[in-house]
Amino acid sequence: MIYLDYSATTPVSYDVLESYIRSTKDFMGNPNSLHSLGVKTKALMNSAVKQIADIFSILESEITFTGGATMSNNLAIIGTCLSYMKYGTHIVVSKLEHPSIYQICHYLEGVGFEISYVNNDEDGLIDFDDLKKKIRPDTVLVSICAVNSETGARQPLKMLRQIIKKENPQTFFHSDMTQALGKVTVNFHDVDLASASAHKIYGPKGIGLFYKNSRVNITPLLYGSGHSNFLNPGTPPVPLIVAFAKAIRLATTDLDKRENFIRRLNDKIVDELKKYEDVCINHSKICIPHILNISLFNIKAETFLHALEEYEIYVSTNTACSSGEFSTSVMAFYNDKRRASSTLRISISHLTTTDEINKFLACFHLVHQKLSLVKKEDVE
Ligand code: PMP
Repeated sequence: MIYLDYSATTPVSYDVLESYIRSTKDFMGNPNSLHSLGVKTKALMNSAVKQIADIFSILESEITFTGGATMSNNLAIIGTCLSYMKYGTHIVVSKLEHPSIYQICHYLEGVGFEISYVNNDEDGLIDFDDLKKKIRPDTVLVSICAVNSETGARQPLKMLRQIIKKENPQTFFHSDMTQALGKVTVNFHDVDLASASAHKIYGPKGIGLFYKNSRVNITPLLYGSGHSNFLNPGTPPVPLIVAFAKAIRLATTDLDKRENFIRRLNDKIVDELKKYEDVCINHSKICIPHILNISLFNIKAETFLHALEEYEIYVSTNTACSSGEFSTSVMAFYNDKRRASSTLRISISHLTTTDEINKFLACFHLVHQKLSLVKKEDVE
């Protein structure tokens, strides 16, 4: 199998799985229990939380564990909006967000919030002037992803924060960092709120991270018991938390070395694929090399995906979570429906080998030839 869909999800690393199994077996107590089994589990959980807080230089109290980035995005956006709606009901988001952000905005629109969409240029970079213009006295929140999930476009969060705070110091800045964590350096101090997910960084599925700096008040969306996780009450999933801490530690080491290797693989794919007349690379200087998006002008992306699958090669169309007819991100880049209507996402990891890329390119050629022929016969 050649897996090139690491942005959809990643395989759990062996060390992470081992931490999960060990903490499941050896720490069965409920961390909310007062007896020694509970105390022992709570101590383990606290040390995992501290590890994460230390890695990001944040406070332990600024971390909430969620079910994944979708839930973190909900908490960040809806939780902030509910808390500050007496000051304003306006939100700004980019046109490069994950579908979960747009679903949340859609819900908020239904209950009276107004959403503005900030423009970006052809490289995918947020238009700073447009951002300035869109921030108003009643803007409670701006949400802009750190790395776009379809194209890999990476935003300069620190600069965006400065623009936002200069226009309106009361406006909070949230960033969905799900595709950035583990691929590039992330700094939670660039934002007020952030979302991330363990299964994108070789961690287990079912746990996400929500960061909120201590100045932001969030209205909880869930109510229950348990003091250790105010915004996500109930019994904390300690083995998932321990495994997540391990995954974060592993995924934030050797980033530059991994990125250089991945860039070489990405360059190899681009060099080959740009030889095809009917293939277009949707990549710019701000895109990270882990994600490569291409448009197929004459072949339906879904057909191509399934044809590659016959060779046990796995890629994505748009994002795994969107089932739209065209890629909203490629549309946001180029405003070209034809280019956005048949896109493939190839996502690469430090686990990918040169041999895998060579085999992928050979199979891409075969599939392209076969499907182009079918298309020609259809026309004739
Ligand atoms: N945000 C981004 C940028 C993503 O790529 C994804 C996963 N495709 C999500 C949010 C949702 O993450 P999860 O599956 O953890 O809910």
